[in-house]
Amino acid sequence: MASKEMYALGSQPSVIRDLFAYGQAQAAVVGKENVFDFSIGNPTVPAPACVKDAIEEILETRESAAIHGYTSAAGDPAVRQGLADFMNKNYDAQVKADNFYMTCGAAASLTISLKALVESTEDEVILIAPFFPEYTVFIENAKAKAVVLPPDTEHFQISFDELEKAITPHTRAIIINSPNNPSGVVYSAETYEKLAALLTKKSAEIGHAIYIISDEPYRDIIYDGLPILYVPKFYEDTIICYSYSKSLSLPGERIGYILVPDCAADAKEIYTAVCGAGRAMGFVCAPHLFQDVVLKCLGQTSDMNVYDENRKLLYNGLKKLGYECVYPSGAFYLFVKSPEADAKAFSDKAKKLNLLIVPADSFGCPGYVRVSYCVDPEMIKRSFAAFEKLMAEYK
Ligand code: PLP
Repeated sequence: MASKEMYALGSQPSVIRDLFAYGQAQAAVVGKENVFDFSIGNPTVPAPACVKDAIEEILETRESAAIHGYTSAAGDPAVRQGLADFMNKNYDAQVKADNFYMTCGAAASLTISLKALVESTEDEVILIAPFFPEYTVFIENAKAKAVVLPPDTEHFQISFDELEKAITPHTRAIIINSPNNPSGVVYSAETYEKLAALLTKKSAEIGHAIYIISDEPYRDIIYDGLPILYVPKFYEDTIICYSYSKSLSLPGERIGYILVPDCAADAKEIYTAVCGAGRAMGFVCAPHLFQDVVLKCLGQTSDMNVYDENRKLLYNGLKKLGYECVYPSGAFYLFVKSPEADAKAFSDKAKKLNLLIVPADSFGCPGYVRVSYCVDPEMIKRSFAAFEKLMAEYK
């Protein structure tokens, strides 16, 4: 007999995966060039040359066990030291190798961090809509409760009044995600300052630290010269979940890390609990080869100009056609207001034109769709006729 809870999870369809599968099947019927698949956040920009160079060098110069063997559970100390040096140099982070735990990407970073923080089934973790839908799965897995803040559909920043109301003595953490999937919004220094002030005040009131879990897979995908901000500089009780899935176009290699800086409350205990959670869930020794690859690629990214060009092309194109879009400052998603209240119905109409866009209900933001632009720019150009036809249905 299977676990009912896990069976239900395994058999629940994902809207994004369904649309993606539909696109693949439809391509065989109408031709690949006539399907406009904006469903999934799978980077299309190739990994930078340093990735191939690093793999080749490692394969050519090392013994098998030094390439494919186990590392320590938290990751190779030399890799973690390299990450610490990088963060110290670039963000004045004042961290050491022992503040890092290597993971299989951001999903693992998040599940481990939540498991490490949650103490009881009464514990609450705050989410800010719109949010990456898997967060609710990860929170349930940690046996905590997700508390969702309604979206601020004017600015897609944090609604501080709502946040203040949502914090209770059971609040353990808040997950933030900037640059954001799905809105593309980036938090400013002012937003972090306000967030820090509120969390500091509320932590004192409830008598324990409220941690920020900063989910940062899009940290390096940022436009218009905006600065990359190091969240613990604003709020010390922060745990960073990073991943190279997007920045180095390596989502299938499953590599990232958790950073518990010493400034966080009970940092040593939390880090030890991270090691325990990793152990309990079997997330020990992240892929060895790719630990070494990311060490050799520190500071490098895929060509972000491609995403920037796509962003401008899609944003300007859809605005011209009369769509209301959130201006994206980071990540590779455009958040578009559905011309009818039911975004699922809108997405279904789009699907009939082979235009695959994701209704944002599962992101906690009904009435919007997510258009993923980590795609071939030629596909964006070809898609405008379909977007125009779609809008015509509402005029
Ligand atoms: N967090 C956000 C906001 C994401 O968009 C994703 C993936 O799309 C993840 C986490 C998971 O990333 P990874 O593939 O590194 O596990």
